[in-house]
Formats: sequence, structure tokens, C-alpha cells
Amino acid sequence: MLLNNKLFDNLVNAFRSLPGVGKKTAERYALHVLSSTEEEVNAFVETISRIRKQIKRCSECQDFSDTDPCTICVSNERDGDLLCIVEKPSGVMAIERSGGYRGKYYVLNGLLSPLDGIGPDELGLSRLFQKVMTRKVKEIIIATSATNEGEATALYIAHQLKPLGVKITRIAHGVPMGAGLELTDDYTLRQALEGRKPLEG
Ligand SMILES: [Zn+2]
Repeated sequence: MLLNNKLFDNLVNAFRSLPGVGKKTAERYALHVLSSTEEEVNAFVETISRIRKQIKRCSECQDFSDTDPCTICVSNERDGDLLCIVEKPSGVMAIERSGGYRGKYYVLNGLLSPLDGIGPDELGLSRLFQKVMTRKVKEIIIATSATNEGEATALYIAHQLKPLGVKITRIAHGVPMGAGLELTDDYTLRQALEGRKPLEG
């Protein structure tokens, strides 16, 4: 019997470390693993480990990719005049799924959060500013989430890029307050992109 079994608890906790997995679900996964054959478990672990090694960050846009640069960064069919700034790789996935955008991306992989010690240096914003300067980007669309940190990051970027004379816009509301792009439906996301407004930094 596995209740209060230390080894079983360790396995459950490994699954609980995944986002959105609570105790009951973690226990179900743990029991599934124990019911599986050794080959099945090895194949599963090997898949995770191998793909984790094969997918890295694109050095251009910082999104996840198994090529460097990624397919969007090298594509001639994407409009290089437009650069959409998102917080996480899931934001690129959400906007691509919505089908309403033909420009390129830059993934911040975080937001400014002074209380957690994340400033412009920690976020590597100079890399973004450098990119905007050297490429002939005409419009920056800031699509960070509608949270305090998302807004503060958007304003900071707009303020820093203002002297370059590049057009800076913010995706329109309709993306629910506090929600990430990945939780926004395709229609709302397309509307939010189309209804983007100039942002004064
Ligand atoms: Zn890329």
C-alpha cells in the first residue's frame, strides 16, 4: 500500500512540479508509471530528454526552435518591418494560431519585476534594442500581458525606443486583464492585434 510511502511520494512530487498538476492528478500519473513496463517508462523519459536537448533558443528572436535561426526569423514571407514583442514562447504560439499576424517576433522570456530583482539587464533588453537599431524595423507591437508587470515592461520598452523614431503600438484590450495570450481565443487575439494603439513611452 502506497499511502505515506516515501518513494511513491517522491514520484508524486515530481509530477506536482509540473504547471497545473495538482495532488490527485499527480497521483494518477505516478500510479500509471508504476503500472507501465520498464520499456514504456524508458521510452517516455528518453523522449523528454532527447527533445529537451534538440530544441534550443533561436539566437535572433529567443523563441524555442530546433533550428538557429528559427523558421520565422529566416522566412522571406514574413514582414521584417513588423516586430511583435511577447513575454513567452506560448505567446508566439497563440498569435501564430490566431493567424492574424505576418511579421516577426521577439520573445522576452520574462517581464521587468524590480521586486524580484529582474531589471533591464536581467531581461537582456539591450539585445532587443540592438536588434531594433540594426534591422530596419518600422513598427514594434508590444504584446506583453495586461498585468502590472506586463504594462510596466511595455512602457519601459516604448520609452527606451522612442528616440529611434520607430512606431510603437500596444495590442488592444479584449485580451482579458491579467490573462496571458495563451488563454485568449483566436478571434479576440486577432481583434487585439488589429486594434493595436500607439503607445507613448
Ligand atoms: Zn527566431
